[in-house]
Amino acid sequence: LTQLFRPLDMLGMVYRTVRQGLIDMAEMFRLIDTEAEVKDAPGAPVLVVRRPTLAFEDVRFGYEEDREILHGLSFEVPAGAHVAIVGPSGAGKSTIGRLLFRFYDPWAGRITIDGQDIAQVTQESLRAAIGIVPQDSVLFNDTIGYNIAYGRDCATRDDVIAAARDAAILPFIERLPEGFDTEVGERGLKLSGGEKQRVAIARTLVKDPPILLLDEATSALDSRTEQAILATLRRVSEHRTTLAIAHRLSTIADADRILVLEQGRLAESGTHRELLAGRGLYAEMWARQQAEDREEA
Ligand code: ATP
Repeated sequence: LTQLFRPLDMLGMVYRTVRQGLIDMAEMFRLIDTEAEVKDAPGAPVLVVRRPTLAFEDVRFGYEEDREILHGLSFEVPAGAHVAIVGPSGAGKSTIGRLLFRFYDPWAGRITIDGQDIAQVTQESLRAAIGIVPQDSVLFNDTIGYNIAYGRDCATRDDVIAAARDAAILPFIERLPEGFDTEVGERGLKLSGGEKQRVAIARTLVKDPPILLLDEATSALDSRTEQAILATLRRVSEHRTTLAIAHRLSTIADADRILVLEQGRLAESGTHRELLAGRGLYAEMWARQQAEDREEA
């Protein structure tokens, strides 16, 4: 019976994921056999990743023919660096994530990883190299162990335990009567937003990707949980090339570089300090957010 219901669960999941800002596309591609818009070039080689540098080179893109969203965007994330993208709502931040995962191809320009155009390599190898921690993860109606192991087909029990430890969710799991075999999801144990996010982090750790794409919207979490999750994410992203899409500026103040996107163009870039000193859009957004935080407190 479980077998019968699983496809239905997945449809529900796919529906929910599609509605999210930055969705966990890896799962979607694995689960549904859609006629994807992007195709592998005939005889496409696999992506070879060593210490990945990520680059957008004069990328133009829009979802509809007559409405360009990204107007010739160029930036680089050096190997192992942590780069954050901020900007007003609708600026195109999530679109950058979707292009990196090759959900769509750019109209012009190219996106490269270690100098290889991502449109020229197999989609499978590209997606294997990128781990996504979405803002609102979706759990399968299965055990918590299954949900963590899902990051890699051949994950062992030890891999799952190590990932849970690094994602700081092991103590929680060990306190559950059935441990890793506890059913979660809609018909099982309901997890809090923070716990779900930790499962997503653990899943990414099992996958062990050299590139991380973070969707850092932690507004659904209380600030203590948010700080704890951020600390975990910092640890996890060390030594990995990381692109973070940030909706709250406080979450990315320590990034190596911050790119400020405005209407599909790079308005400013620099460290938090440099951008504050520049008194531009970032400084304005920062002041506004500080004021909002004070009002809430
Ligand atoms: P937010 O901070 O609100 O999430 P964002 O900077 O991530 O915003 P995007 O989601 O990248 O913005 O959207 C950029 C623009 O592209 C918006 O004007 C949006 O309406 C448009 N857009 C996004 N997704 C689609 C889509 N699937 N089809 C058509 N237009 C889209």
